Amino acid sequence: MDLGIAGKWALVCGASKGLGLGCAQALAHEGVNVVMVARGLATLEKSASDLRASLDDSAPTEVVFVAADITTEEGRAAVSAVRTGFDIVVTNAGGPPPGGFRDWDREAWIKAVDANMLTPIELIKANIDTMIGRGFGRIVNITSSAVKAPIDILGLSNGARSGLTGFVAGLARNPEVAAAGVTLNNLLPGKFDTDRLAGTMESAAKKTGKTAAEIRALQLAQIPARRFGTAAEFGAICAFLCGQQAAYITGQNLLLDGGGYPGTF
Ligand code: NAD
Repeated sequence: MDLGIAGKWALVCGASKGLGLGCAQALAHEGVNVVMVARGLATLEKSASDLRASLDDSAPTEVVFVAADITTEEGRAAVSAVRTGFDIVVTNAGGPPPGGFRDWDREAWIKAVDANMLTPIELIKANIDTMIGRGFGRIVNITSSAVKAPIDILGLSNGARSGLTGFVAGLARNPEVAAAGVTLNNLLPGKFDTDRLAGTMESAAKKTGKTAAEIRALQLAQIPARRFGTAAEFGAICAFLCGQQAAYITGQNLLLDGGGYPGTF
């Protein structure tokens, strides 16, 4: 299926590995020019260069990278210095650390809200008027299944991401936005095989005294699909949401979890 977005420009955050990289790869393979952002230069540079090498030489798709912390004003300014007015924005940053609710002080909360709520909102604000002017725009926020079914050790994520979800729900339904062909949706990953998942499994292992392998087996047993998701399949769904065919999908929270969430709705 041709998604009809070749030649557009996408900003993909947290794109050096994991889910963000999956999104950048899927979009670039649709002919979308991508600006990939992540903090660590070496991994980012390698991921961008591998992506370039995987593209068809005859296609003019551009892959640009910016090593920056997207959760800071300086980081966002570094991106703006390279390009502004994106057609597609995929917001993403590292998730907040796991822990117990008594440990999280004001500073920890502000950091989580900054990274997982205010940063996406800033990126939306910076790009949405150009999208409205062009009559096309796609904003995809990578949030978490924790928005739908909270995870006890990830209270910072449960809280901060729910704030973003509420904001997006309102903005997506604003006729100024929706009637202009601009959609905003959230992708809610369940468990995907990335470094982040490995980190949360190690932390759960420490907390419970089990080995990481035992935690992995326990988590797999809770997923009806009996496997973790892959960044490639996550990226493909992101690309679809960014495509012309998805123009009538907005304000939605799409759970990608192999059937892990036990509810009917
Ligand atoms: P990951 O650790 O594999 O990759 C994170 C990427 O984001 C890396 O490229 C990293 O460099 C980049 N990054 C982190 N902080 C950044 C910052 N401040 N500025 C710019 N780039 C930054 O993680 P992942 O598994 O791909 O997860 C992506 C998001 O999805 C995270 O917020 C995570 O909490 C959330 N999530 C993941 C899962 C899962 O199973 N993997 C489940 C639920 C939620």
